[in-house]
Amino acid sequence: MGSGGFSFTVLGGVPGGPRWGRLVTPHGEVDTPAFMPVGTQAAVKALDPAEVAAAGTRMVLCNTYHLFLRPGPEVVAAAGGLHRFMGWPGPILTDSGGFQVMSLRPLSRVEEEGVRFRSHLDGSERMLTPELSVAVQEALGADIIVPLDHCLPYPSDPLALADAAERTLRWAKRSLEARTRGDQAMFAVVQGGHDPALRAEMVRALSTLGFDGYAIGGLMVGESKGLMYRVLEQVAPLLPEGSPRYLMGVGSPDDLVESVVRGMDLFDCVLPTRLARHGTLLTGRGPVVLRNARWAREFGPPDPGCPCPVCGRFSTAYLRHLFKAGEPLGPRLASLHNLYFIQGLMSRLRAALESGGLEALRREVGRVYGPRPGASAATGSERPRQEGFGPRASNLCQESRSGTPGQKRRNADACTHAGSSGW
Ligand SMILES: [Zn+2]
Repeated sequence: MGSGGFSFTVLGGVPGGPRWGRLVTPHGEVDTPAFMPVGTQAAVKALDPAEVAAAGTRMVLCNTYHLFLRPGPEVVAAAGGLHRFMGWPGPILTDSGGFQVMSLRPLSRVEEEGVRFRSHLDGSERMLTPELSVAVQEALGADIIVPLDHCLPYPSDPLALADAAERTLRWAKRSLEARTRGDQAMFAVVQGGHDPALRAEMVRALSTLGFDGYAIGGLMVGESKGLMYRVLEQVAPLLPEGSPRYLMGVGSPDDLVESVVRGMDLFDCVLPTRLARHGTLLTGRGPVVLRNARWAREFGPPDPGCPCPVCGRFSTAYLRHLFKAGEPLGPRLASLHNLYFIQGLMSRLRAALESGGLEALRREVGRVYGPRPGASAATGSERPRQEGFGPRASNLCQESRSGTPGQKRRNADACTHAGSSGW
């Protein structure tokens, strides 16, 4: 990989399949597979960066769309860049902003030049082009930046999918040409919906352009888990073996495991912290919905054996009480625990990859979080995402990442409210 201060090494695994590695950035190293919590507005909601790091996080994602509108890239640049501004010294990835913009439909319109949209803050008309997205991300100063792409919901017309994928390719070329900094890596975004031939064509075209890594876009947009897993199985073996593979918008425990099995290296999702703010804890025995009356007198730790500072000091009954009473401490403690849980899972995945214990861990997580007990996603469950815990969790994720027409109002709300008051 070419960009200064940036490298990726595959340390072991199966070509085109599960593997572990190390990503080196100017702000530190990341062992992969790795999960990036989302700091939508330069903050992982409710958490101090020191807590985010203590939970096992090495890299965070920040949303270009939100920071572009507020406080503006010039403010972040004047502060010395995003790392200094938000007090996070480790690696940062910024997205292109396109996903949030396109989620605001019908307030946005895709043109060849870029995406025209109205700010959710003041209603002003704006235009986000590939060149502007790169300029904003250069001003923010993340370690890894992402070119503007055109993402469509599921299902979409095949002609529209091909049009969006080809536009994404043209925008990728423009984004590379727009770069002025040599110390940031840029990942390509592979679009193409659920059409294997189109995906393959996009991978071929993008991999000749010299990107530092590959993000899989256009998934988690309303399709079944089985279909998403199949696309990963088709795309992963086509991607350059020595480059990181980043699956955007995935963060439920079962999806993380199944995607690692299919060779993905990097993930981001609002899921752990968003679920937490809504009063659901991720635990080794399954999700704990704190508002359920059954927890009212449960004076043991929420997740026995969890090393987090919450489980060591507080009971499930107390956390439930905090939520019932509307105390801000409740969402804060729940966020902290859930981040420890997800990062603990990633740590176990990395260890299992090295030790050969991946299948056992996959069965364990599948039993608790999978679409149905003992399910193996390799068989490709076609059940809709609304069933079971994992699917619901995925939908929460989609609130900020998908552009499904049926979800557009909710998406706009998610963008509008993300960070303003979440709880
Ligand atoms: Zn805990």
